[in-house]
Amino acid sequence: MTAPPVSAPTAPGGLPDLRSLSRSELQALVARMGEKPFRARQLQRWLHRNGAASLDEMTDLSRGFREALRRHAALTTLTAADERRSSDGTIKWTWRTADGRLIESVYMPETDRKTLCVSSQVGCALGCTFCMTGTMGLTRHLTPGEIVDQVHRANRRLIELGEGPGPRPLTNLVFMGMGEPLHNYEHLKAALDLLLDEDGPNFSHRHVTVSTSGLVPVMRRLGEETQVKLAVSLNATTDAQRDALMPINRRWPIGELLRACRELPMRQGRRITFEYVLLGGVNDADEDADRLARLLHGIPAKVNLIPYNDNPGLGFRAPSPGRAEAFLERLVARQLTAVIRKNRGRDIAAACGQLAAEGARGAGAPGPAGNAPLTGPGVPG
Ligand code: SAH
Ligand code: SF4
Repeated sequence: MTAPPVSAPTAPGGLPDLRSLSRSELQALVARMGEKPFRARQLQRWLHRNGAASLDEMTDLSRGFREALRRHAALTTLTAADERRSSDGTIKWTWRTADGRLIESVYMPETDRKTLCVSSQVGCALGCTFCMTGTMGLTRHLTPGEIVDQVHRANRRLIELGEGPGPRPLTNLVFMGMGEPLHNYEHLKAALDLLLDEDGPNFSHRHVTVSTSGLVPVMRRLGEETQVKLAVSLNATTDAQRDALMPINRRWPIGELLRACRELPMRQGRRITFEYVLLGGVNDADEDADRLARLLHGIPAKVNLIPYNDNPGLGFRAPSPGRAEAFLERLVARQLTAVIRKNRGRDIAAACGQLAAEGARGAGAPGPAGNAPLTGPGVPG
């Protein structure tokens, strides 16, 4: 049941990228170099537990070994292109990749958990009509190293900001940033393996959620090959409605999507989260709520209602005042577990579906009012 081997991504320059290598690939590399096996574990801990940004930080590795490593592999690290802090504690980082692409991660602190929303691709190919990332198209998949490094850079910066104890202030991860994680499954799986490893940040699968627009065959694989939690972006209750919002529905319509959900191997007490973006006048009527309750009947489900976050120019609007609450009440009356997702970081355009790095949005995109980019350690002024 293991995933096929990931062809190790290379860093610019053609050498394999150390941060993308799995535990066994690191072991093989160390063996090829004629080094003792324990070096692989040391390396993995530096790379993924401490989030080392460079080989120079790995002070307990001999200079000779580090020099040899430089000949065999490269180490890429994301750099902060921007950091914006919201009045509600949310922080949005824009990271620059080694080849100059921009991606975003969002930190959302709550009393009982500290969650990072992680990106899986530069842009997204799926073109949902209401989503800012969808308007960018897909530039490329992120490598496993780029996926996990968002977590490492955030942890490091959060320690600097006094947001929690090292080496890992973050408690939860959600793959709800830029991109469709299941469209980049091989790299997502490799990243999850690194993030859940005890010689890495050692996240519990209960604290990691992967969100998908509904790539049915890959959802099945994720269910078989991992134990992380699944969130499905349903967003509509009829195929006509969903076809218009999410082109992926023409490939895997609601019936097939929900059949796959019913068939997923579910651990005791687990539920699938269904995300439902409330679009004013489009999918937020009482009849939609009733249809939603009928569709989800019998599935261990939890519904996250997300009032639309405005993206000017896409032609959608948030539900009118009181509509989200009325929709919620109708679901609850039909025995569904449902919540309205809090809008976080709206003042810094960090909310769900608003991620699209400035560079890709084009020049002249308005900056967030009252939130000047911060300067500080790790953030280029
Ligand atoms: N591609 C994955 C994960 C990223 S999108 C997916 O689609 O599930 C994360 C969530 O943001 C999805 O549920 C999506 O429906 C929602 N979303 C996209 N644009 C939004 C917007 N403008 N306002 C509110 N939610 C939005
Ligand atoms: Fe891609 Fe998700 Fe946005 Fe759809 S909602 S375009 S799948 S990121």
